[in-house]
Amino acid sequence: MNIRISKTKYLNGLQCKKLIWYIYKQPEAIPEPDEATQAIFDQGHLVGDYSKKLFPKGVEVDHTKSFEEGLRSTRELISKRVPIFEGALTYERCYARADILEPGGKDEWNLIEVKSSTELKDVNYDDIGFQYYVYSGAGLKIDKCYLMCIDNTYVRKGDIDPSKLFKKIDVTDEIKTSYSTMIENNVAEMVKAINSKTFPQIDIGAHCNDPYDCPLIDKCWSFLPERNVFFLYRNNKLPMTLIQEGILELNKIPEKYELSEKNQIQVDCEKTGKPYIDSEKIKDFLDTMQYPAYYIDFETCSSAIPLFDNSSPYKQIPFQFSVHVVKEKGAKPEHFSFLADGTNDPRPAFMVKLKEVMGTKGSVIAYNAGFEMGILRKCAEVLPKYKKWVESIGERIIDLLKPFSDFAYYHPKQDGSCSLKNVLPALTGKSYDDMEIGDGGTASAEYFRVTYTEDNKDKAKVRRLLEEYCGLDTMGMVDIINKLYSLK
Ligand code: SF4
Repeated sequence: MNIRISKTKYLNGLQCKKLIWYIYKQPEAIPEPDEATQAIFDQGHLVGDYSKKLFPKGVEVDHTKSFEEGLRSTRELISKRVPIFEGALTYERCYARADILEPGGKDEWNLIEVKSSTELKDVNYDDIGFQYYVYSGAGLKIDKCYLMCIDNTYVRKGDIDPSKLFKKIDVTDEIKTSYSTMIENNVAEMVKAINSKTFPQIDIGAHCNDPYDCPLIDKCWSFLPERNVFFLYRNNKLPMTLIQEGILELNKIPEKYELSEKNQIQVDCEKTGKPYIDSEKIKDFLDTMQYPAYYIDFETCSSAIPLFDNSSPYKQIPFQFSVHVVKEKGAKPEHFSFLADGTNDPRPAFMVKLKEVMGTKGSVIAYNAGFEMGILRKCAEVLPKYKKWVESIGERIIDLLKPFSDFAYYHPKQDGSCSLKNVLPALTGKSYDDMEIGDGGTASAEYFRVTYTEDNKDKAKVRRLLEEYCGLDTMGMVDIINKLYSLK
């Protein structure tokens, strides 16, 4: 088998040799990226386009004709000494296409890898280290190596300024001193793994999600029983130890293992099949409620390239809210909602509409309230006339997550999670399962798609689904509080 290793495959192989074996030997077993992963890729392409604006004389290598033609035109551009985008070279079994090659001093070049993240990770060094290995092996004199990532302190004012959107970090010393030999050895091991008849026996572990979610998780983790030890709340280490000892089921954890109080509650509930209820704690929580009660939920979207003035990369921009108002205990809830339309900054209209429905007294209930308060405070920074009002909301806010993260209530059907998506079905039987938009990530991606891209033929349907989804979150909170009252 003629094995050619690209940078992406090299990084896959570093994460797991079983994964790289599948990529070469059984590529049909690797599922297509889901919508969320695809959205991350798309974001990366957009960031790449903006980085190219920093090199107006740059030329992009055309890779659409053939592999050989890409290599040939790269060599041609190298001889012209112009900035090159996606320049392709090979060395030994490896193949690299760096984001940007910039002519440096004399016959030297600077290597620049563009990242859509705001902070550097170890994998970024592996990434540029591989490019450096291939380019220098192919005979190119590399002077400097840079990682260029997004500067999240950048605030958009008018057109995007790429010179401020990015920060360039010089990693030349780290790359030149420690990467070449390491990469040679890594590639040799990967080739050996790929050439073996069957995939290498590699246990599941933390590496399955680090640095990326492995596309083979469903396959490799399928031996676990439905109710397994990974349900242990906020416990990353013990499940791996248990698996190595052949203990897979949550209700089979031997007593010799010392569990946290919350994990012990889980295991006990798993054995009895019944919920754990701390009536005292639940009563203390409910006693903080004051009527009228306002149940709120926001949906937000963000992008690497800020869409609006006075916003920064990856800043969460609220585009939707749902509010259910319960005037007095047990009263029928009234529903109010807002979903921004058009492509303008949604924050001003969002704040106007929200303030109109929130009244001046009574509790404001959110699930994981720090998120909603964080959004409101960030909006008030841009729209200072709301500062006092936001502070007043902060004095009224109650976090419905608390009784669940404190394990005042735990139901085995929560599967070790305190998120609203797990608590609501466990407590009330209501579920997000049949909803076409049933989680915040999808809501954000779908809103972005139908609002800011031309892929929006189903806009009316998506907007209806968004209303349903956000409305269920707040109505679900009303139901949860009613259920907690019934337990008191
Ligand atoms: S799921 Fe884990 S063990 Fe399986 S291939 Fe991926 S990283 Fe390797």
